[in-house]
Amino acid sequence: MSLILTEETPPAGYERLIFAEDPEAGLAAYICLHSTVCGPAAGGCRMWNYDSREAARTDVLRLAKGMTAKNAVAGLDLGGGKSVIIGNAKSDKSEALLRAFGRAVHSLKGSYYTAEDVGISPADMQIVAEETPYAVGLDGGDHGSGDPSPFTAEGVFQCLKVGADEVFGSDDLTGRRVLVQGLGHVGMSLAEKLHAAGAKLIASDINEAALDRAQRDLDAEICATDAVFETEMDIFAPCALGGILTSETAAKLTAKLVCGAANNQLAETSVAEDLRARGIRYLPDYVVNAGGIISVASEIHKTGESYRTARMASVAARIREILDLSNTTGKSTTEVADNLVEVILDQTKAAYQEMIA
Ligand code: NAD
Repeated sequence: MSLILTEETPPAGYERLIFAEDPEAGLAAYICLHSTVCGPAAGGCRMWNYDSREAARTDVLRLAKGMTAKNAVAGLDLGGGKSVIIGNAKSDKSEALLRAFGRAVHSLKGSYYTAEDVGISPADMQIVAEETPYAVGLDGGDHGSGDPSPFTAEGVFQCLKVGADEVFGSDDLTGRRVLVQGLGHVGMSLAEKLHAAGAKLIASDINEAALDRAQRDLDAEICATDAVFETEMDIFAPCALGGILTSETAAKLTAKLVCGAANNQLAETSVAEDLRARGIRYLPDYVVNAGGIISVASEIHKTGESYRTARMASVAARIREILDLSNTTGKSTTEVADNLVEVILDQTKAAYQEMIA
């Protein structure tokens, strides 16, 4: 019960950065609130074996800022935040640690909602939720939203169809060669939808069991992890790692459309321009993968199915809007999406100022 909260000075443009420690419980974590302009900050908790406290700090800052963009562009009344627990999720996690983390979240009095991310399961979040009501993504309960992955996959699938319509002149996926990189929670669900829609699947993963399943049940062709950028495909759906699109891989990619769930697919912002110059349509990751946070938002706001359905429909509508703006302005889809985030934040700030004037 020896929680120590240290308020650090965040970089410009960020609201709060808190380092939470509980030596008895083995907790060392950062919680970052990038922006609460659109509402309380929301974003998952990642447990990762960071090399240093500095590495954890860098990651939480990057992730929290990304959540502001994702939540704003999805039209959610939520700001952006994130938390990272320093440690090995397999060997360092304990009930005491999760409870200490829950108390740290609770100390923020609802200005930050946490949920699952890499290394944190719904069962872990259930323990966190025993210390604070600001833990979501729970199984069961009146509004528990459970695993967000099926919603993420559905949003990606809908956006991919919008992208196909734009690039190939039809959203009919019959016979389209789609390479899904990463057949995890989101990737496998997406692969099932693509197979059902008649696409020719190409699957890449380091997990043999997932590949076997895709080959057996979804008639997938298997692609070695190091052969992705040498493979002929119409559409690339990255659902594994971030940073896979570099200037080198973008130069080799055979797809005409990129649409997948992985966060931070572009290793650098400039890769958006490399892709655009090659005539490859890139659908910004934080726009297409918003289904999961929409599902979580329905739990935060304690809303019913209709809220989730309406918001889910707006994911594909937003991608259509971004493609149209990209066509009329000649800007990359990434630049358009980033500009849109700024406009939404500015408008929300202005509306608030007007209300309190
Ligand atoms: P997951 O851990 O369930 O799946 C990841 C898959 O990628 C695993 O099958 C893993 O074996 C595979 N993989 C790892 N390294 C690989 C490599 N080098 N090549 C090919 N495959 C590899 O994760 P997930 O929940 O499905 O999320 C996938 C991505 O989508 C992540 O980047 C995540 O941050 C992002 N995302 C997920 C959600 C969600 O709702 N789960 C929401 C938004 C964004």
